[in-house]
Amino acid sequence: MQVSDTAPQSARLQPGTRYRGRFAPSPTGALHLGSLTAALGSWLLARHAGGDWLVRIEDIDPPREIPGAARQQIETLRAFGMESDEAIVFQSDRSALYETALQRLLAEGRAFPCLCSRGDLAAADGIHRACVPRPSGKTAAIRLRVPDAEIGFDDRIRGPYRQNLAREVGDVVLKRADGLWAYQLAVVVDDHAQGITEVVRGADLLDSTPRQIWLQRQVGLPTPSYAHLPLLKLRQGEKLGKSLASRPIDPADPLPALGAAYAWLGQDPNELGGGSKTPSAWLNAAVATFQPGLVPARDIVLDE
Ligand code: GLU
Repeated sequence: MQVSDTAPQSARLQPGTRYRGRFAPSPTGALHLGSLTAALGSWLLARHAGGDWLVRIEDIDPPREIPGAARQQIETLRAFGMESDEAIVFQSDRSALYETALQRLLAEGRAFPCLCSRGDLAAADGIHRACVPRPSGKTAAIRLRVPDAEIGFDDRIRGPYRQNLAREVGDVVLKRADGLWAYQLAVVVDDHAQGITEVVRGADLLDSTPRQIWLQRQVGLPTPSYAHLPLLKLRQGEKLGKSLASRPIDPADPLPALGAAYAWLGQDPNELGGGSKTPSAWLNAAVATFQPGLVPARDIVLDE
């Protein structure tokens, strides 16, 4: 088993392989400008590569879910001209796939049941390196063992990124003590099951990527390529998604928001020509002028 890694790991698209990208919102509210930027960025990179773009609804956390949000997100994407090329996948339907991966990891000793509560780990800043002598949890979570080694990859936008998993992250929860699947397991299983060749998403998930790569290796899966898009932040450093949650994008007026998202992706919306367009016509013009190399490798700070 390889535990150290100094070489960039992101696979490049093999000749003859079709690019497959995805947008994977959690149904925790309406889409806002930050999530539109991620949706548009993933759509443009997929279309620029002549590939497919899929939508996956990450609805594995019912306590955080807003009823009706998934439907609303899908309808908003459609109003903005972006439709999944294949049937939309809902993670809530896919427990059997996650269970298969989990059982394999348990059988091979790569994952283990853990009764440590949050309080038990407080002294270690919440980082799990080994179970405490007398854990106080009532029900076991399942965690993935991580190595005391750096796992690195070469992000298409941000460049090389590495993390020592044991020191910086700790053993990763795969299934929570409340019985819910953890995002890290579901995303790795689904990105592979859907044949995703490049994961394009907001840079808030940059630091989740090394643990996802480690998990891929533990279940014998290849690593896709990764591209982390700029996050929109307010000047005081708050993530836009939180602060403007009350300001969803307006499906009745998509072009101004598309133009703003395009500009935040480092592109020039003025090159698209004026006039009123349908969102689909706007997107076709945008993909014709889109330059992946101009997407900024840093977050965008707004003055609001
Ligand atoms: N569902 C995650 C979110 O809405 C995104 C997961 C991903 O793109 O890997 O933040």
